[in-house]
Amino acid sequence: TAPEPLLELAGVRAGYGSIDVLHGVDLAVLPGTVVALLGPNGGGKTTALKVCSGLLPVTGGELRLAGRCVNGAPASDLARLGVCSVPEGRGVFPNLTVRENLWLATGTGTSLADLEEAAYGRFPVLGQRRGQLAGSMSGGEQQMLALSRALGTDPAVLLLDELSMGLAPLVVSQMYDTVGRLADEGLTILVAEQFARVVLPVADSAALMLQGRVVRTGRPDEIEAELSAGYLGG
Ligand code: ATP
Repeated sequence: TAPEPLLELAGVRAGYGSIDVLHGVDLAVLPGTVVALLGPNGGGKTTALKVCSGLLPVTGGELRLAGRCVNGAPASDLARLGVCSVPEGRGVFPNLTVRENLWLATGTGTSLADLEEAAYGRFPVLGQRRGQLAGSMSGGEQQMLALSRALGTDPAVLLLDELSMGLAPLVVSQMYDTVGRLADEGLTILVAEQFARVVLPVADSAALMLQGRVVRTGRPDEIEAELSAGYLGG
């Protein structure tokens, strides 16, 4: 039998006030896989991630975690259940140092020493900058810090939004190399990304989102072929 999805959206509707953005989204993330959520700006990728982390309520359909409906669960409950997100724009505290930013993830029971060891092992540049204010670092370094903080909570499922945003191509490829390594370590990851070619190499499956709906899911090579053939204007 097929494994049960760790995270699943079934016919999910959501929006902002009277504006409907998601019009029945179906998406399944199997344990230990990386799912790339693709599509142009405004398609609803960020909105779908907000639903997954409990920041935006479901107005129709179901959000499921390990098979259980978690509609209406606050973000804090979903975080406790292991849903961890790195929002677009990174979410580091610019006026705190690297070390202080990591310290903020100790609330979940991991010691600062362990968080630092893991973060600096993964991203040595963060070790060199441990006393530097996060806001004074490059975009790529801030992204590494945001990812390190998220990983410090030992997430069951990691939600990543637009890792490539505002970063130089070399840094983008470093970030996705890291995603690939996390996948090899068995982490479950849902990553929204506008640029298919940077994420597809590390994805196990891909979903294409247009105007608030997932219009296509498939293997990365299938989706890539359809995108390069100009399927639906992607
Ligand atoms: P992007 O990569 O730019 O974030 P996206 O695919 O993630 O694109 P969303 O950010 O989810 O798309 O936006 C989907 C739609 O929801 C857009 O039409 C957007 O204008 C609208 N929207 C997003 N945030 C809000 C908000 N806070 N209030 C009202 N409408 C919003």
